[in-house]
Amino acid sequence: MNLNKYGLILLLFLFFSTCVYIFSQDVLLISFDTESPDNETVMLELLSILEKTNTKATFFVTIEFQKNLPNMIPLMLEQGHEISCHTQNHSILPFANKSLKEYELQGCKQILEEQYNITIKGFRAPYRMINLNTLFSLKKYDYTYDASVFSIFRNMFFPSPITEISTSSYLIFPLDDYLSLEVFHLSPEFYFKLLNNYPFKYKSYSFHPHVIMQYPLEFEQTLINKDSNKITHIAYLETKYGR
Ligand SMILES: [Zn+2]
Repeated sequence: MNLNKYGLILLLFLFFSTCVYIFSQDVLLISFDTESPDNETVMLELLSILEKTNTKATFFVTIEFQKNLPNMIPLMLEQGHEISCHTQNHSILPFANKSLKEYELQGCKQILEEQYNITIKGFRAPYRMINLNTLFSLKKYDYTYDASVFSIFRNMFFPSPITEISTSSYLIFPLDDYLSLEVFHLSPEFYFKLLNNYPFKYKSYSFHPHVIMQYPLEFEQTLINKDSNKITHIAYLETKYGR
């Protein structure tokens, strides 16, 4: 075979991406942005699906949610899920002044830590609107990771001041239920097809309980179809970096 320089580069690329695929961890990171529209019935049904499918998930909760449904976080913790912050009142962060950022970022962490005697490590920005300045604030308030960015944009903040766990996107489609179903208006059939046929081993899917629980059967089946280890964000970082 006579290869020119480009053929050789392509071959090396294929070789290395195959190695990355073979040696990367086969994990599925399921997360939920848990906000005020979520009610108790939806949450209890969701928790039972997670338990049935042996899924440990990460819940990014607002303090608004915690106040509305005070019994829910203890239940989540009892089932081995991770609690992370999604701010106090779901404010838009990039243009927030210093005191609002302190309230939303530091306040959320402090309230949850004191209330449940846990350490909060993760953060996801409302509407996923994040900028470099907010990432530095997360570092300052002692968060371990941010999970606001989609994989298609993951190099935007490189080098990021804080570890980033991106959410998977399928080409330009973010695999987030709200954006896929309610903003992009994908049909639910198409959306679940994307979820079920995502080709990479590293998968991070994010949902909103009040959106995904409109399709409980399809959602449960999707989790059953995946034989990957379904672990929390922090468990993933611990196995990957020993954090
Ligand atoms: Zn949100």
